[in-house]
Amino acid sequence: MRSAYPTFTAQMRSTYTILAPMMAPIQFNLLVNVLKDEGYTIELLTNDGPEVVRKGLKYVHNDTCYPALLVIGQMIDALDSGIYDNHRIALAITQTGGGCRASNYIHLLRKALVKAGYGYVPVLSLNLKGMDRNSGFRVTVRMLRKGIAALIYGDALMLLRNQCIPYEHHPGSTDFKVNRWVDRLSVQFRQGFGYSRFSLRKNLKAIVTDFAAIGIDTNRPVVKVGIVGEIYMKYAALGNNHLEQFLHSQSCEVMIPGIMGFVLYGLYNQLEDINLYGGSRVKTVIVKILLRYVGKFEHIAIEAIRQNPRFIAPIPFEHTVDSGREVLSLGCKMGEGWLLTAEMRDLAKLGYHNIICVQPFGCLPNHIVGKGMIHKLKELDERSNIVPIDYDPGASRVNQENRIKLMLSVANENRLKASSVADRQRISM
Ligand code: SF4
Repeated sequence: MRSAYPTFTAQMRSTYTILAPMMAPIQFNLLVNVLKDEGYTIELLTNDGPEVVRKGLKYVHNDTCYPALLVIGQMIDALDSGIYDNHRIALAITQTGGGCRASNYIHLLRKALVKAGYGYVPVLSLNLKGMDRNSGFRVTVRMLRKGIAALIYGDALMLLRNQCIPYEHHPGSTDFKVNRWVDRLSVQFRQGFGYSRFSLRKNLKAIVTDFAAIGIDTNRPVVKVGIVGEIYMKYAALGNNHLEQFLHSQSCEVMIPGIMGFVLYGLYNQLEDINLYGGSRVKTVIVKILLRYVGKFEHIAIEAIRQNPRFIAPIPFEHTVDSGREVLSLGCKMGEGWLLTAEMRDLAKLGYHNIICVQPFGCLPNHIVGKGMIHKLKELDERSNIVPIDYDPGASRVNQENRIKLMLSVANENRLKASSVADRQRISM
């Protein structure tokens, strides 16, 4: 059956610009460069501010998830801006394929476009489940391999950046290196290398050495803070009111679990489905092979980071699964599901006891596995200092930041108590 909506055709590939919402800047810039190499003209949207929220509220039902409202508001704001030739624009949006509303954002977007007078703009679904096919966009094996490498590099760069910025002698020196590596890796991809396991090992080793050479002051009093939550809110500055930047301004060392964890979580859930509801043996074997294949890339990054004691490497996915199992059933997989809880447990194990759980309006699943699990997590580790922060169109940034500052003051008290205990122990020895 022919779609009632315009689709992204093969002819549009060379003549249209694809606009995609920004989420995690380092990972997305690498991914976009991969798509550019494949012949797509693509741009990440960075328009921000109250107008984006206003347009989201105008064209999306106000009881829907806040990330949908923001992403759609941002796209319509871009079309309204007059910067683009809207008859040569396509919009890209992801579909997770899970049971949550994230699979249906595309329908909300199409409806909003019709309402805003842009019904002719094709929408491109980015997903790995064969949903909403567009003849002009094909995911090739080479793209997938480069995409996995882009996420591995992006996650590692994000982690190293966050562990250098609060201590750097010369502000900007870390970001300079991040940008240089994004450029270098993109050139490698364009030239057809940089994404094999051998290249990843070599590049990641060089990246870790390069970041370890940044001049830092480790004596600065810094609070370690982890960020978890719904995937868009966790990474997107538009969603979380520039949370990472705010925490840096408050002398915090931030740890944000990588996007690769979400990819592995999606794969692992296929196995959990088979465990719980049954399924074919062939599917089990294929999923296990894929998990092992992708997991090996994650291990390469973790090994490279662990080589340098200055950096704290993330916990490998197989142990994240165990962290989840300690707290809740792995059958809990709507939204970020058990992964969100497992990430909070992992962060505490890595010494990031202060955690901000970002929760968007309209998101029941993540309230359950986020806010709903805090009590249990505190029982498992009394040092946990977790604050859930709600984000919605009417939420005041000042209130959000004040609640975070309150959490940071508790964190500072705990840090001082811990260091005076350590001093007393040293004196009595
Ligand atoms: S995870 Fe939450 S915010 Fe995301 S689609 Fe599901 S309900 Fe909406």
